[in-house]
Amino acid sequence: MGGWEFHGAVPRLGQPRPSTAPATGSSASGLKSDAPTPDTTNTPSSSSAAGQPRCFELVSPMNPYSRRPVPCHLEKTVKKPLARPKNASLNGKMLKSAAGSSVPRGLDVTLTCRAKNEEICNKARSSFEMASAIIGNVLVLNEPLTVNATIYPFCAENSDLCSKEFQLLGGASPARTMLRKDDDGFYRIYPQSLVKQLNHTQHPSYGSFDISAEFNADGNFWFQEDGAIKKGQSDFLFVVVHEMIHGLGFTTSWADYINKIPSAITPNPLSPDADPLDTDTFRFDGFFENAFDRHLVQVPSMVPLSNLTRVLNRFNGGIGTVYKDQIEFINKLTQSPEYEMAARAFNLSTTRGSLGFLPSDSVSGNDVVLMETNLKSGFVQGSSISHVEYQTYSNTPDFLMRYLQDPGTLLQQDIEGSGNYAGGAIGPKLIRCLQTLGYRINKNPQRIAMYQIQSESGADSMTALRGYASWHASLAAVAAVTLAALL
Ligand SMILES: [Zn+2]
Repeated sequence: MGGWEFHGAVPRLGQPRPSTAPATGSSASGLKSDAPTPDTTNTPSSSSAAGQPRCFELVSPMNPYSRRPVPCHLEKTVKKPLARPKNASLNGKMLKSAAGSSVPRGLDVTLTCRAKNEEICNKARSSFEMASAIIGNVLVLNEPLTVNATIYPFCAENSDLCSKEFQLLGGASPARTMLRKDDDGFYRIYPQSLVKQLNHTQHPSYGSFDISAEFNADGNFWFQEDGAIKKGQSDFLFVVVHEMIHGLGFTTSWADYINKIPSAITPNPLSPDADPLDTDTFRFDGFFENAFDRHLVQVPSMVPLSNLTRVLNRFNGGIGTVYKDQIEFINKLTQSPEYEMAARAFNLSTTRGSLGFLPSDSVSGNDVVLMETNLKSGFVQGSSISHVEYQTYSNTPDFLMRYLQDPGTLLQQDIEGSGNYAGGAIGPKLIRCLQTLGYRINKNPQRIAMYQIQSESGADSMTALRGYASWHASLAAVAAVTLAALL
């Protein structure tokens, strides 16, 4: 049952430590700028040549923290024409909105399919076409996002992804990320897909792909060609669109990089590697948030979470301090009064309704989008903060980025059940989040007829929906069982 995504554990600095209480004795005045301070914004290694950008490439789509630095340099931006509406061909049939006009492509998917059953490969291709339309309908992209997708049997090929308790369905992450300086002085980690939309005259070298994704060939997926969805099946399209939004940068860098059992979280300290035997000196360049994290606020105060980063960056002499190794770095950090900010962030991440994403056009605190800080198991790397709060956004048009998907439910059904929002899978609050990140938004998305493309008559889709409705009544009773945790 259940799992359709897996974000994996963060690589820990130094050797794993038992969970410890944070250092005590500090004043709780972390948020006050009560002392004259040196620069508390981070800096990408001043020892490197000035203007030399830093880029990272994803190692495994199933673990967004598995990133290695790759050489990159500044390149001139070549202007490309806007993606124009173009009829996407799907098995010879046109992909059209319900209004009858075609929508721009949002994704260019390069699919490597190692499923034994060739049929799954073809059905997945259809779903990627639809996901492409759903994203291209809502975002105005300079060019379609490039996606490197692989479908393979997880258990047969990767024992790490094979669990007896739950079945992993897939995962995706930005393929390349790069450091970019924001106008508040912080360098943050940007996904390549977002950098491409910012229209700078120069940009760090791009990798071949914007988003990297893997899906389980043995997953209990439902595809639109399959007729009525069965209990326990996950709508492949839902999974793809959800994962693509993570790939666009809807993801936090706040995690516990130190303790085995999470008890304190920080943004990414960007260690050159996570090898416990590494005896190299470690220069602290600051904690690096994701572009997403700039917009996180504490609720209800609306104080930016970045204020905690600012305090954390001051610990033990602050940015530029060189440690003899990562162990020393960890010891000094955990003994510092500033470490209390990491404990505070941890508490926020495990208390319902205490963290939100504040869209840039917000007029009041009511506009805040509540992030997932209400998981039974406390802080869950990859699930906490990187999703919207489950209960608040279930049965609303912003259901997509919850950490759970209801097996046996069609994406179309979620859309119709929450008011049939014109943007479809991508709800109004999520759109404001994407706009705040820096994506351009199509103000007039079309209504896409999602399940009418696979058959001449559209009859299959209606059958599927009717089939869904007939057993949905009994779903409520088994919901607690059906909603297995997704990790
Ligand atoms: Zn997710």
